[in-house]
Amino acid sequence: MRLLIVEDEARIAELLKRALEAAGFAVDTAHLCADAREALSVTSYDAAILDLGLPDGDGIGLLSELRASDCRVPVLVLTARDTVEDRVLGLDTGADDYLVKPFAMSELIARTKALLRRPGGALGVVLKAGNITMDSIGRDVSVGETTLALPRRECAILEHLMRRLGRVVPKAVLEEKLYGIDDELESNAIPVHVHHLRRKLQDAGASAEIHTVRGVGYLLAEAKT
Ligand code: CA
Repeated sequence: MRLLIVEDEARIAELLKRALEAAGFAVDTAHLCADAREALSVTSYDAAILDLGLPDGDGIGLLSELRASDCRVPVLVLTARDTVEDRVLGLDTGADDYLVKPFAMSELIARTKALLRRPGGALGVVLKAGNITMDSIGRDVSVGETTLALPRRECAILEHLMRRLGRVVPKAVLEEKLYGIDDELESNAIPVHVHHLRRKLQDAGASAEIHTVRGVGYLLAEAKT
């Protein structure tokens, strides 16, 4: 597994490199957007760790450039900008996960491993459930031939349910998943989002439906014909 670390502070880059190498990864470092661009164009990385504040540009800009050019390497964004807006911006731009500085090295390693474990994470596969499809990176959802425009949170819930098709997803897991998007999650937020999502799927003629497992969570299952 080969990783690219894009971080301009040499000391931090070195610490990250050492920790990740100790965890068994092969690691390259880049200190500038330009170096990162170059490295990504010649080497196939399994994941990249991207600092947002770089001397020759903004990591978000680099990320959107990469995604626009169809580079689908999983990206973990590092940032000191601890605001919801920046997180949403990062995720909308195509980051796969987010870590706010300062963070524990063990956390970084765990998140990196999780990124690599994600089903299809490295390839951006299309998830399917009945006639529902979702591009897990672009997050485009369609039901049959119809494209469904879903708000971020509903989309995040659907993605999680699709990744665990036919299995129950505890409500707490969905709450945790949404926490990165919405720091002030209301206690009834999940049921409300699920309610809207369920209705939109039904209206679009989806052949899979969301079931409520009382007291536990939700489950997406293909409808019996
Ligand atoms: Ca920086």
